[in-house]
Amino acid sequence: MKRILIIATTTGYQIRSFGEAAEKLGVRLVFASDRCDQLDDPWWDQAIPVRFVDEPGSLHTVIEALVANPPDGVIAVGDRPVTLAARVNEAFGLPGNPVDAALASRHKLESRRALQAAGLAVPTFRAVSLADDPRALSLSFAYPSVVKPLAMSGSRGVIRVNDSCEFVGAFERLRTLMDQPDVRIERDSAHAMLLVESFIPGREYAVEGVLTNGKFHSLAVFDKPDPLDGPFFEETIYVTPSREPSLVQDAITSAVSAGAAALGLRHGPLHAECRVNDAGVHLLEIAARPIGGLCSKALRFVSAAGEASLEEVLLRHALQQDVSGFSRERRASGVMMIPIPHRGIFKSVDGQRDARAVPDIVDVTITAKPDAKLIPLPEGKTYLGFIFARATMPLAVEQALRAAHAKLQFRIDREIPVV
Ligand code: ADP
Repeated sequence: MKRILIIATTTGYQIRSFGEAAEKLGVRLVFASDRCDQLDDPWWDQAIPVRFVDEPGSLHTVIEALVANPPDGVIAVGDRPVTLAARVNEAFGLPGNPVDAALASRHKLESRRALQAAGLAVPTFRAVSLADDPRALSLSFAYPSVVKPLAMSGSRGVIRVNDSCEFVGAFERLRTLMDQPDVRIERDSAHAMLLVESFIPGREYAVEGVLTNGKFHSLAVFDKPDPLDGPFFEETIYVTPSREPSLVQDAITSAVSAGAAALGLRHGPLHAECRVNDAGVHLLEIAARPIGGLCSKALRFVSAAGEASLEEVLLRHALQQDVSGFSRERRASGVMMIPIPHRGIFKSVDGQRDARAVPDIVDVTITAKPDAKLIPLPEGKTYLGFIFARATMPLAVEQALRAAHAKLQFRIDREIPVV
């Protein structure tokens, strides 16, 4: 039986979806995670416990656990496992990304440098130290700008600033964020810096795909129909197929392909974000991992072998099967990541039945747990839940997502300040 190693920071839907796909394909999954205790049966007792803060130690643990029976492929789920996955692939001689490329993809400054050196359109950028004086720094930038951490994901800590006064406010806010226990525990030297970039106006897109020995194969291009002008950048709605003319879509996938090559990425899943305006395609991010968590549910593929989830396509790819015969289903599909409207304690949500009854709605999943503390962006990193829709046309998907969202009423209590 073939075995695929999944290195993950999450334990939820996507892991279960990989499990279902593995069962269908007759493949065994082995997990390496820093949350082995939270993994569902039947995996937790066989999972390899790793600590992403200690990559050499984790590599050693994985090799020790698997050397007698090496895996046939490795998949990183989540941002942090990307570099460990590259090291494990290298150690077992499996096709994957070079370690340097994986490191660069996770580091926004290194990414920018590599993309710029390859002549690709990126915002102007400069890294600054959190130890610097923001007032003095604020005079040296043009506005609007975007200030962001170097190694976070999901738009966490990304803030648009329109003048020097807002720059100082954002800088101090990020200083506090970078001092939070969940950030400090990562012991990442990148967290001592911030990146300041020019704000790129334009429409935004996400691209999902795979690299096979350096060749990029696009699996889906998503439109993000909400204007993402800041000051914070909640993801909200993704709809595929893109409504852009094929010329624009081709320019987007070509830029992503060139960007992956510029970073040195060669093999495995890819998720990219870019902005398009009159000056062309600007790459914002190229990550060597699949789209996160529940969002992959919005993707369904067809081939001569039948229907497949994204996870099945990725398992096949990790087994070095040719996945170029898989294309996205004909129907339009989309997901809304329900943003947290304000800080507080999540109590309840009404209107789920009405939201599900909206035509073209496939599912409404509330992921926030009652009594959970909700922290919106830029400090937070979670959503209230997800809404999924499928329809003949992308516009109908977008409208269904918005209509379903409007039916939901969230009760979020204000936190009682501790005196
Ligand atoms: P993350 O990796 O945390 O998602 P990104 O750098 O991709 O961080 O930024 C998150 C979002 O913030 C982007 O999807 C985009 O909407 C917005 N953004 C980031 N940088 C810029 C920029 N230079 N110009 C315009 N928007 C930006």
